[in-house]
Amino acid sequence: MAFVNNMHPSWKIDVLLEGNWRGASSVLLQNGGQLILVDTGLAHDAHQLVSALERRSLRPCDIGFVINTHFHLDHISNNCLFPDSVIYATQESYDWCRALYTALMDPENWKTLVLKYYPETYDFDNADELMRKMRKFALRWWDASRTGKTSQFRWIETNKLPCGLEPRFTWGHVPGHVSLVISNGESERLIVAGDAVMTRLDDQQVLTMPPHCRAQYQSERREILSSPALVIPGHDKPFRNLL
Ligand SMILES: [Zn+2]
Repeated sequence: MAFVNNMHPSWKIDVLLEGNWRGASSVLLQNGGQLILVDTGLAHDAHQLVSALERRSLRPCDIGFVINTHFHLDHISNNCLFPDSVIYATQESYDWCRALYTALMDPENWKTLVLKYYPETYDFDNADELMRKMRKFALRWWDASRTGKTSQFRWIETNKLPCGLEPRFTWGHVPGHVSLVISNGESERLIVAGDAVMTRLDDQQVLTMPPHCRAQYQSERREILSSPALVIPGHDKPFRNLL
């Protein structure tokens, strides 16, 4: 008879959508029959995401849980493909990002309103260009109807994640952002970083929002890069920290 050690679940990681300069990583976690999808990508990645599941003989209805690292639109815009799944997210990130997109949609006052969410914007040399791109991206892609039904959400602040998955609160990128730390027994540590580590080397290449708090973002990024682990960044290929 097979021995099942419930104390040390073994999560297999499978990257369905590899992160790039625009799209976010979408990662399947599998532990026996339990299937979890971390982040769901941009709307125009929907077909690619479903195809990636099909290649593994899976359908969207097989995914029991979705976890959103944060609520930027490049991480959540296919939540709607999983209407029967429970979605774990932080309420803080959900509320903060939705309010941000509402502000970006304001035709008259969007620049002033956005500074409430990104007070450090003018620390960047290319602030005006950055803000213009942010708005263009939001107008093109933000669609609240793709983010899942309110009844699907289970807030990470007050609910434990499935066994073996630990949230690490990494709020430098946006308030309420979480990275996932996965310990497969003693042997292996995996970190699904979300946008706490956007790329291994060059964050400038990613079309996304600037950090909400740059100093905090940099300190969290350094901490993850100095952990002995396999890291799945938000917008780059997975890599192993060589320490
Ligand atoms: Zn983000």
